[in-house]
Amino acid sequence: MNAEIAELTATMRGRGEWEHRRFFPPGPKLAICLSGGDGTLAGLSETELIEVAAAARRQTAWAQARELAAIAELTRRRTRDERDDHPDYRVLSAHESVVEEVAAALTLTSESAATQVHLAERLHTDLPETRRALEAGLLDLPRARAISDLTDHLPEDVTASVEEAVIEQASEQTTGQLRRRLRRVVQRLAPEQVERRKREAIAGRRLEVWETQDGTADLALCDLAATDAHAIHNKITAIAHSLRQDGDVRSLDQIRADLAQQLLRGTPLPEAARAVFTEQVEPIAPPATSPPSLTATAAVSAEGAPTASVPLECRDTADVLADVIGARLAQVTEYARKQGRLDGLDARLRHSVRELQDQVAAARDAHCEAADHRHTGYRPPAAMRKVIEARHPVCVFPSCNRRSDRCDLDHTSPWSQDGQGRTCPCNLAPLCRRHHRSKQSPRWALYQPWSGLLIWVTPAGTWHIVRPERRRE
Ligand SMILES: [Zn+2]
Ligand SMILES: [Zn+2]
Repeated sequence: MNAEIAELTATMRGRGEWEHRRFFPPGPKLAICLSGGDGTLAGLSETELIEVAAAARRQTAWAQARELAAIAELTRRRTRDERDDHPDYRVLSAHESVVEEVAAALTLTSESAATQVHLAERLHTDLPETRRALEAGLLDLPRARAISDLTDHLPEDVTASVEEAVIEQASEQTTGQLRRRLRRVVQRLAPEQVERRKREAIAGRRLEVWETQDGTADLALCDLAATDAHAIHNKITAIAHSLRQDGDVRSLDQIRADLAQQLLRGTPLPEAARAVFTEQVEPIAPPATSPPSLTATAAVSAEGAPTASVPLECRDTADVLADVIGARLAQVTEYARKQGRLDGLDARLRHSVRELQDQVAAARDAHCEAADHRHTGYRPPAAMRKVIEARHPVCVFPSCNRRSDRCDLDHTSPWSQDGQGRTCPCNLAPLCRRHHRSKQSPRWALYQPWSGLLIWVTPAGTWHIVRPERRRE
C-alpha cells in the first residue's frame, strides 16, 4: 500500500466502523417474520420489500434443504435394508421404489423424481458443503443443482476439491456464472474426465425437432463438437452479414434461420444465398437505439496510447476505496433503519457516494493526469477501449455476463466538451444496452469514484460495488 491509500483509509475509516448488511438466517424464526398477509407488505419501505424478497428466498432454500434431507434419509434407510446379493428383477429396487413414492407424493414425473432423489443423495454423501450452504440460505436450489450436475461422475476426491474451490463465491454468482466457473475448475482438476464426457456426449449427437407453445417448431443439431458448431454458425453469420451489406433488411437472426433452412433442404451455397435474398419478407423494425449524439475520431500517438493493463497502484486504491465506500453505505443504511427512515434511503446513499467521490476527486485527477489518460473526443480510441475491456471483460452490472466487446463504452459522467465527463479510463465502463437503460432510469445511479471502481445505487436503496478486474465467470 502506498501513502496515498494509507491516507485515504485513515480519512474514511474514522467516519464509521464496518458493519455488515443485515443477514437473518433462515429457519422457524424467519418463517414467523415472513408470515402475514399481503396487507403487511403495504406498510413496508422499498428497501424492506427487497429484503423480504431476499429473506423469503433464503427461507425457500432452507425448506428445500429439508425436503432433500427427508428424501435422503428415506433412501438411506431403504437401501440399507436391501439385500443386493440376489437382486429380484421382477420388482423395483429399493432405490427405484423411493423414486416412485417421491414422484407420487410430490406430483413429479418419474424422471424429475429420480433427479430429485439423486440430488438428495449427492448432497448427503459427496457434497456436504453445498448442502450446508443450501440449508443456510446462501445458495438456492438451481445453484446447488448446478454444483451437483457438474461434479457428477467425478472421483470423490476431485468432487471435494471442486466443491471447495467454488462454494464460497457461489452465493454471489448467478447460476450461469457458477456453471462457467465450475466448468473451468473441473477442466483444471479433472481434464481426462472432461475429455471422456465430451466424447460420450458427441457420440450422442442428434437432430431434434420439437413443437413450441406458439405453434412453431424448433429444429436443433445437438451435442456437436463445439468447434464444428461454431464453424457452421460463423460461416452462416458471415454470409448473413454480406447479405445485409447488400441491402437485405431482415435481421441477422432471420437471415441466418432462412439460410440454414435453404442449406438443409439441399440448395448449394451460392444459390441458397441468392434465394434467401430474393425471398425477403416484411422488414421488421430494428429495436430503438440511442446513437451517440456526438462523434469524434482522433488517432492516439504511440506514446500517448494507454498501456494494456491497469497499473497496480490504481487497482490497490480502487480496492481500498471499495471497502471504505461499502462500509459507509452499510453505515448509512443501518442508521436509516434505526431511525425508521428507510424511505428515501436511495437519495441518502447517492448523496454519500457523491460526497466520497468529491473527497477523492483531487487524487483521482492527479492519477489521471500522471497516467496521461485524457482524450478530447467523445469516442475512445481503440487502444483505450482495449484497456477498459481488459479491466472489465463483461458489462459492469453485477449480474450481467454480456461480453464487453459487445457492450457500449458508457461515459459514467456524461461527456461534455468542457472536460467534466471525460473520455478516459477513469470515466468509461462497458454497459450492455439493457443496463445502459437501467443507469438512465429514474432513481438509478452509477458512479465511478476511481478508475474501474463502479458503484450502483438502486431505487429501493440497495447498492452494488463492482471492482476493476471483474472476471467473466
Ligand atoms: Zn483518467
Ligand atoms: Zn449488462
